[in-house]
Amino acid sequence: MDNFALFLSFLWFLFFLFTAFYFYRFFKYRKELKKLKNRPLEKKYRQFIQDIPLYKNLPEKYKKTMDYKIQRFFIEKDFIAPYIKLTDEIKTLTAFYGCILTAAYEEFCYPNLKYVYIYPKAIKKNIKREYIVEEDVIISGEALQDSVIISWHDAKYQIKHNKKRNVIIHEFAHMLDFADGAADGVPPVTKEMFKEWKKTVLREYKLLLEKKQHHSKIEIDEYALTNEAEFFAVMTEYFFCNPKFLHYHFPDIYEELKKFYRLDTLIILEE
Ligand SMILES: [Zn+2]
Repeated sequence: MDNFALFLSFLWFLFFLFTAFYFYRFFKYRKELKKLKNRPLEKKYRQFIQDIPLYKNLPEKYKKTMDYKIQRFFIEKDFIAPYIKLTDEIKTLTAFYGCILTAAYEEFCYPNLKYVYIYPKAIKKNIKREYIVEEDVIISGEALQDSVIISWHDAKYQIKHNKKRNVIIHEFAHMLDFADGAADGVPPVTKEMFKEWKKTVLREYKLLLEKKQHHSKIEIDEYALTNEAEFFAVMTEYFFCNPKFLHYHFPDIYEELKKFYRLDTLIILEE
């Protein structure tokens, strides 16, 4: 065997070793996840969500899925909180509101998301508009390709008082929107559903834009009309925080979101 053949054999050996190691880790992790599915959420975490109607009134099978998803979220995502003490309450509520969007999709855990940044309060961000004018905007959260940023002051206040908005749900709706590679306000849906989506959600968005241009009264937070992506994120907030309002003003959108999220929040949050 000459030197080149020896070198090739060595490369093959390395390739085999690497592949074996990859599969070993893959199956080991799958096994861990399987165990996680039967492990209830620890009391120290559960105490923060057990009285939230969005959790309490979930169908039993989804409650179990949420327990699994929250624990998986803790394993897979890095929480980074540079200026605030990261408590179990912050971690649990962030994971809960992030995962509630996909309660009906057991194995979806935001594969692109690596980091969750928690800041004590709203963040000042310097943005360039049209590459000419620079300005400072105050944001309570942001979704980037592999991270989500949350202002805890805003999130906590909204969870406690506000029935229409929730910055955690908003940013995770963006993450869902990004999941198919485009920030276009359309989450990963089937071709069939996309046709419906165009007829209902995107059509309603255009109608509202026209209304705004004619200075007519808009029923929703006008921030939703920034672009299609913001429209989807804000509508998702209404769907999970105030479905009654969404169903009353935009029944078509409610139905479309119900189909996509596979949850009937109107029933779950029935008073
Ligand atoms: Zn947004």
